[in-house]
Amino acid sequence: MIPAVTLSTGAKMPIVGLGTWRAEPGKVCEAVKVAISNGYRHIDGAFIYENEGEVGAGIHAMIDQGVVKREDLFVVSKLWCTFHVPSLVRGACEKTLGDLKLDYLDLYLIHFPAGMKVCSYIPQHLTNLFVDSSSATLSLLQPGDNLFPLDDDKQIITDDSNFLDTWEAMEKLVDDGLVKAIGVSNFNKDQIEAILNKPGLKHKPVTNQIECHPYLSQDKMIDYCKSKGIFVTAYAPLGSPERPWASPDDPTLMEEPIIKAIAEKYKKTAAQVLMRFHIQRNVVVIAKSVTPSRIKENIQLFDFELSEADMKEILSMNRNWRGFPADWATKHKDYPYHTEY
Ligand code: NDP
Repeated sequence: MIPAVTLSTGAKMPIVGLGTWRAEPGKVCEAVKVAISNGYRHIDGAFIYENEGEVGAGIHAMIDQGVVKREDLFVVSKLWCTFHVPSLVRGACEKTLGDLKLDYLDLYLIHFPAGMKVCSYIPQHLTNLFVDSSSATLSLLQPGDNLFPLDDDKQIITDDSNFLDTWEAMEKLVDDGLVKAIGVSNFNKDQIEAILNKPGLKHKPVTNQIECHPYLSQDKMIDYCKSKGIFVTAYAPLGSPERPWASPDDPTLMEEPIIKAIAEKYKKTAAQVLMRFHIQRNVVVIAKSVTPSRIKENIQLFDFELSEADMKEILSMNRNWRGFPADWATKHKDYPYHTEY
């Protein structure tokens, strides 16, 4: 049984999960099955990953085979930026539940603080996601809608939402039983503070899912969240080597001599050291893989412990480097990374 953290709702969230971003249809169903068969109970997904149907198929195959029960799983999804306007939030969540074929999510996150306008504007470059007719729903999406609308400066097209109003609509999902808990992702301290100080707050965020690894150790955010009873979930723990915008000059975490030397010392892999690092900080960690051997490797994390000196050495690698700078939102009023943390 994988250790879990206890959220402020009382629910248990397994400290290791399977990531599914860029887990292609055709592979992700099998990946989810391999993961669950090998002890994973936490699956991290999102509407914008465009694979929730297959993720759900993997989950249901394991439930049908009696490997696991729904209540043993912790299933996470995220509200995409084009659905921040409060009247769109429920439909977006229902779309995800429908694709996953689940009655409820264990956790639903606001994926990114900045709202975007869903529109059929077609810019000249190609970082755009268009809705095809199979994922269109009458009330929410139309074929041809653009889910990543960028203007000619490659900045997102802003909607007129406010994430505090979005939060109220998220709270309603808890009250109506669609989701067990709600949280945020990529929010900075001031944005979390704004939610916590919102008059009439009914449900606190239980987690902030953020980029976190030795190059971006997030010490202050982790301390802040801890002081508020919020868990941090670390995404891109392996440095997200397949992010499409990676530059050849970017540092490569799994190739770092410090990490490789520590891995050798414990007879573990670089990936296992990078993931264990989070567990020892009580940070939830989600790595993506569609490779069965790696999926198994990435959960073999509980038979060794990094020494205090090794943890210190890993922490000394911090250089506040982001693999996910979200430079498509730098001019948005809710861009989260203009502040220190
Ligand atoms: P990761 O740091 O998890 O890296 C994933 C990559 O590493 C894949 O290319 C995978 O390849 C490879 N890999 C996995 N395990 C190993 C291993 N043991 N040895 C060598 N290579 C390995 O990056 P992600 O960006 O995917 O982050 C993890 C998850 O976090 C995402 O999938 C998503 O669920 C979430 N996320 C959330 C974001 C947010 O804004 N909230 C943003 C980004 C990610 P392969 O699959 O081919 O095995």
